[in-house]
Amino acid sequence: MTDQNASHPPLLGAHPHDEHLSTHMIHHGYTPPADFQAPQPGVFKASTVFFPNVAAMRQREWKDKSAYTYGTHGTPTTFTLEERLCSLEGGLHCVLTPSGLSAISVVSFSVLKTGDHVLIPDNAYGPNKVLAEGELLAFGVSHSYYDPMNPADMAAKIQSNTKLVWLEAPGSLSMEFPDLVQMVQICQSRSVLTALDNTWGAGIAFKPFNLTGNAQLSVDFSVHALTKYPSGGGDVLMGSVMTHDEALGLKMKLTHMRLGLCVGANDVESVLRSLPTLALRYDAQDQTARALAKWWQGQSACAQVLHPALVGSPGHEHWKKLCTPQGGVGYAAGLFSVMLDPRFTQAQVDAFCDGLSLFKIGYSWGGPISLVVPYKLESVRSAWPSGLKKGHLVRFSTGFENIQDLIADLSQSAQQNLIF
Ligand SMILES: *Cc1c(COP(=O)(O)O)cnc(C)c1O
Repeated sequence: MTDQNASHPPLLGAHPHDEHLSTHMIHHGYTPPADFQAPQPGVFKASTVFFPNVAAMRQREWKDKSAYTYGTHGTPTTFTLEERLCSLEGGLHCVLTPSGLSAISVVSFSVLKTGDHVLIPDNAYGPNKVLAEGELLAFGVSHSYYDPMNPADMAAKIQSNTKLVWLEAPGSLSMEFPDLVQMVQICQSRSVLTALDNTWGAGIAFKPFNLTGNAQLSVDFSVHALTKYPSGGGDVLMGSVMTHDEALGLKMKLTHMRLGLCVGANDVESVLRSLPTLALRYDAQDQTARALAKWWQGQSACAQVLHPALVGSPGHEHWKKLCTPQGGVGYAAGLFSVMLDPRFTQAQVDAFCDGLSLFKIGYSWGGPISLVVPYKLESVRSAWPSGLKKGHLVRFSTGFENIQDLIADLSQSAQQNLIF
């Protein structure tokens, strides 16, 4: 055995600056010049944040975004994304969460308590309903599902203990676009909070805090799966909750803090890098989705095309009112479903999906690759949606592939597998 102390050369000896090397490498005197200007904002990583002295540490308030306290409460990187998202939608406060679903849970946990009731549209993003049936119910919060295409049904289901109504426009999978304006008016007149899952709109299709150019007509919370469009890469999981109300903003921040939710700086960096192209990507995927949806309208295998921008699709008029503010073609995400003829077997529908080569089979959307998923709608709904024909629902999300190539792919698999 060698004596380490004796055999080591004096590597850890005194440094010219009177510090030992390891200390010097940590407490180095160099600071890069301020005002570095480049296309992308810097990425700051921290759990620990330094204070100049104890008095400053004691004074600093984590809710105050003019300074920093601890990594979970925000860094220049997370504050930058929150502020950019706020300006996208006209929100006042925003928190980032590890997924779209956790953003939904922040809203529910911040405004609901034991004895309260929450209303959820029957076509809501499925896991929102699963959360209500699981944790919320276990904590003594009851829920009802309402018909999203019947505001009177929603109004009738508002109870004296109803605190929150969830909204989604359009609904997941079946893509019905509700009369958001009327539903928000009803909720406001009954003093019930509204939370919109605005993942589809992405802050582009319409303004949730200013629904008809009227700031009085506004939802209370807007939730996003940043996982979808704002990321745009299919490689990031993140969510956000936004509000334009000071008091609700504080509630939301407290719940977010107490649950210990935060996001990684590299993921935030990815979203910040994607945000400048959000509107361009949204538009490109919208054009592709509409072209494919129109192609399906001409196919005998298809009983119904579900895309809110298509005349005849459930809620098209409501979509038009909200998403074509200047007339013209308006805005829609690159997402649509088709109801394949009920005469097909599920095996044929599955074989059609398997037979596609450009469309990959997988969840989520908003990324560069087109995706397809067949759904058994009856298993996730309390009733078959009123505006929908019977059949097999297949959901498509468009990527950035060439439209003609995508149509050729749909066409070859349909000819191969969708035969009456
Ligand atoms: C994907 C999605 C979510 C959930 O987002 P995750 O980041 O996957 O948890 C929530 N709402 C809608 C409408 C979505 O499409």
